[in-house]
Amino acid sequence: MNREVKEQILSKIKEYGRIYIFRHMRPDGDCLGGSKGLKAIIKESFPEKEVYIIDNQSSEYLAFLGEDDGEVPDEAYADSLAIVVDTSDMDRISNQKFKLCKEVIKIDHHIDHTPYGDISWVEDWRSSLCEMIVDFYDTFSDELKLNREAALYLYTGMVTDSGRFRYSGVSGMTMRLAGLLLDKGIDTETLYANLYLDDWDNYKFKAYLYETMERTENGVAYLYIDRATQEKYNLSFENASASVSSMDGIKGCICWLAFIENPSGDGSIRVRLRSRFMAVNTLAEQYNGGGHANASGATVYSREEMNELIGKADAMVKEYKENNEGWL
Ligand code: AMP
Repeated sequence: MNREVKEQILSKIKEYGRIYIFRHMRPDGDCLGGSKGLKAIIKESFPEKEVYIIDNQSSEYLAFLGEDDGEVPDEAYADSLAIVVDTSDMDRISNQKFKLCKEVIKIDHHIDHTPYGDISWVEDWRSSLCEMIVDFYDTFSDELKLNREAALYLYTGMVTDSGRFRYSGVSGMTMRLAGLLLDKGIDTETLYANLYLDDWDNYKFKAYLYETMERTENGVAYLYIDRATQEKYNLSFENASASVSSMDGIKGCICWLAFIENPSGDGSIRVRLRSRFMAVNTLAEQYNGGGHANASGATVYSREEMNELIGKADAMVKEYKENNEGWL
């Protein structure tokens, strides 16, 4: 599938001696795993090439994947190739120095609202960006090499972005490509321990969440975590934000929303929107955001705006339930 664009990407990788890989702000498992996995594939296949990931943003719970590369002077970006992964919109690229590179390649699995790049390979039906990177390797497996380290990075992205292979984007091909990675000998026990063990404070915080989460008339579950609560439970912003998943198993609540007050102190609130059966990205787009059908992000700037968003979500759920069957 899309062999022609993949061939173009491979030929650019071969052409350039220096390659920088870029990704989105607030890196998640998919963009961290995908950037590191792609770097490992290129380095293993073409050891003479210089490949860097330069990003001052990282993720606490993914620290086990290791650090990125150190800063370089601006001149070092000249005459190099930029590969941007998992980032639909140029403004969300965490290191804007990609603009200094000679050519830009976009590889992404988000809806292509804002195309960019000299070459663009976007497949929004893919369960993860990492699935695309493994597919890229698989297409040219006679020329490319993928070692166990790369397999761990890429499997991490596939597992995390697909909700452990549960979300609707997961296809037969997803599982075949994941199987290819497992065949490289990933230590999944250690991986899952790194990803899913939680510390004591977080368990206590979960008890608080279950106590305080609310539900609208038609089945939107939601919670709000202000700065004081984040401090009380000694939570990083990232841990507070992860609370969205604590609402993902409530029967009848086909949409769930986490509102987390941003650390910036300006009163803005990060919104994480999730759903099953119905789509939420159109709602996120109304509030400075966007994303996938069942997983989107947005920002609101007051409690009033937050309540307005909850009201709209409730109306969407009502309409969906009235017009569709089979939801749970
Ligand atoms: P989050 O809940 O922030 O992890 O977002 C869920 C999904 O929506 C991720 O795939 C993000 O890339 C995407 N997303 C989050 N915020 C935005 C935004 N402002 N614009 C476009 N996509 C977004």
